[in-house]
Amino acid sequence: MSVRDLIILGSSSQQPTRKRNHGAYLFRWNEEGLLFDPGEGTQRQFIYANIAPPVVNRIFVSHFHGDHCLGLGSMLMRLNLDKVTHPIHCYYPASGKKYFDRLRYGTIYHETIEVIEHPISKAGVVEEGENFRIEAAFLEHGVDNLAWRVTESDRRKFDKEKLKRLKIMGPQVKKLQEEGSLIVEGRLVQLDEVSWIRKGDAIAVVSDTRMCRSAVEIAKGAKILLCESTYLEEHRDLAEKHHHLTARQAAKIAKEAGVEKLILTHFSARYLYVQDFVREARELFSNTEAAEDLKVFAFPR
Ligand SMILES: [Zn+2]
Ligand SMILES: [Zn+2]
Repeated sequence: MSVRDLIILGSSSQQPTRKRNHGAYLFRWNEEGLLFDPGEGTQRQFIYANIAPPVVNRIFVSHFHGDHCLGLGSMLMRLNLDKVTHPIHCYYPASGKKYFDRLRYGTIYHETIEVIEHPISKAGVVEEGENFRIEAAFLEHGVDNLAWRVTESDRRKFDKEKLKRLKIMGPQVKKLQEEGSLIVEGRLVQLDEVSWIRKGDAIAVVSDTRMCRSAVEIAKGAKILLCESTYLEEHRDLAEKHHHLTARQAAKIAKEAGVEKLILTHFSARYLYVQDFVREARELFSNTEAAEDLKVFAFPR
């Protein structure tokens, strides 16, 4: 079975700590490596996580505050060094194009990899590929900042026992799929009799924001919601002031969106223990966990 997991490469907010590197989050999903918000030091975190950087084929930058993008240039240079042959897609808010360019071309290097840029200026579907649909929504952070939703394509699954019983095999299966029905030994077999649609899973990433509707909308029904919670409720005034969420607010988003699991991250350096965040969020949303550097969360079907 193909890999489906989320690797936390960092979990701090603006200021890293001894235990928490700048944020960076890698979803390994089927054949894809989706890297979100590579902060400073992301390249080295890959080494600690024992993962080869070339798994990355898509990089998402929510916004251009340093803790979400300072590792972008070095990651691109690393992929260049590793001579990856697949294209690297980069998604970011269009208004930050000049920051993207500076990070990409910040130092001397001979770029040989293929970087495909997706500057995003409006919310909605960003890309509809064979494997995934990628959507973005603007959050409320005082600067252009995007939340992401990645949804796996729906797939038709066949009941192998039924196919065998009805003696449908090989090219006939393909024909049945294409035409919707098939006559086998004088009997009409409908496609839905022997197969069903497996809905694709979705994940959502909500980075720096105040409480807002678009955070709920983008996360609707997601299997995993990775969400910032910079503060605890006791510092709600600071959360408001700096356009961030508390753990309780993140839980509220998770609950209203009906997600399966909430993973909190982007913790302020003022807090030592992430379990305090988990405790606060679980009062509203029980299936909550905290990101910790190098922790792995599997999300099997
Ligand atoms: Zn941040
Ligand atoms: Zn920010």
